[in-house]
Amino acid sequence: MAHWDAETAVVGLGAWGAAALWRLAARGVDVLGLERFTPGQAPGSSHGGSQLFRLACPEHPGLIPLAHRSRELWAELEDAGQTKLFVPSGGLLIGPEHGRVAGGTLRTAREYGVRVRTFTATALRIQYPRHVGLPRHHIGVWDPHAGLLRAEHAVRTTVTLARNAGARVHTDTRVTSVELVPGGVHLHTPHGLVKVRQVVLAVGARLPALLPGLPLDTVRTPVTWFRPLESDGDFELEGFPAFVRELDDGRVLWGSGLEGGHDVRLGLEDPGAAAKPVEPEDDDRSVTPDDWQDLARLLPAKVPGLRPLPARIAMGLRTRTPDGQFVVGRPGDDARVVVAAGGNAHGFAHAPAIGEALADLVQGEPTKVPLGFLSPDRFD
Ligand SMILES: Cc1cc2nc3c(=O)[nH]c(=O)nc-3n(C[C@H](O)[C@H](O)[C@H](O)COP(=O)(O)OP(=O)(O)OC[C@H]3O[C@@H](n4cnc5c(N)ncnc54)[C@H](O)[C@@H]3O)c2cc1C
Repeated sequence: MAHWDAETAVVGLGAWGAAALWRLAARGVDVLGLERFTPGQAPGSSHGGSQLFRLACPEHPGLIPLAHRSRELWAELEDAGQTKLFVPSGGLLIGPEHGRVAGGTLRTAREYGVRVRTFTATALRIQYPRHVGLPRHHIGVWDPHAGLLRAEHAVRTTVTLARNAGARVHTDTRVTSVELVPGGVHLHTPHGLVKVRQVVLAVGARLPALLPGLPLDTVRTPVTWFRPLESDGDFELEGFPAFVRELDDGRVLWGSGLEGGHDVRLGLEDPGAAAKPVEPEDDDRSVTPDDWQDLARLLPAKVPGLRPLPARIAMGLRTRTPDGQFVVGRPGDDARVVVAAGGNAHGFAHAPAIGEALADLVQGEPTKVPLGFLSPDRFD
């Protein structure tokens, strides 16, 4: 009879894997977490200081119940960890009335009964004067349920709670290959073989390297911090709240004001050719002027009052799917493997509910929130 090192392994302890580990351990499952780096410090996606949580998710209606469940579980994590993970600041979605960001949020909110407040471009200029260059056909949508999650702290807290609940965690352990064997899975690492009955692969951008076949690609997406000009220092979170702003050329500017003494956090998502795909195994996170120049050039016309050069940059990886939705489930209904990847630019907020769903899948139970729209087999 085969000897198993654990019932289940979770490979990758970013936001999603950490949450799965926590839920599995809390249910008494014999679970092992394997992380290539140190949780909360890994150069994947789950970092960048803070990440935006929204309730009115325009990306897919199926995400609204997921966001509701995540909100409950973020609160549970805060209680259990006796710490603050969520800053309930609200969030501002700006863009063309018929666009995907503000327009999409408003349509979703109306359809699914999420209470939001709307602003005309003129009202936006008065209420949030840091945003300039707003065309008349742009609107603002205020999601009062939105806020900022403390990214690295949240991952570390989740892994600590998983450990406290009995999970074994191996950091600095890279899984180099995944071998499906009768009745289980062999995980190859430089430290030796790990044999488990089931594996949850939550390795973000690196999923194609461990389990080829899913149409994922990964692009570099820098997070950039700018310091306000001395004479123009009023960039506090209250007056310059977390925002996502769609421009008429399709690019999306996002960021948040000063919180906890940090600089102003900004990023630019370019849906077109400027997004640079990377190989899953490429470890180069070095930054060149190409990574921040477009954003810096845009700021005087959209958010003036900041120094022209960034104070700091962190390189993030955004793992994309053809339809923009996550991938969560059992590929080919295989009893040995569950995958969770493709967080795109909105996966962090949903981490606890995705972790719970991963635990449900491992235990062969229906997920609390229906997740058929995230099936890995939808691309077949
Ligand atoms: C710049 C940027 C801004 C974003 N902003 C937001 C936002 O405001 N709100 C929001 O909700 N989402 C946001 N996102 C998306 C969000 O960050 C991701 O969806 C989410 O963090 C995905 O988490 P993950 O656990 O799937 O992946 P990751 O965080 O990448 O975690 C994967 C983990 O697996 C480990 N790993 C990889 N390969 C191996 C291996 N072979 N063996 C062992 N371990 C391995 C890695 O070290 C890493 O720790 C943003 C993303 C980026 C890039």
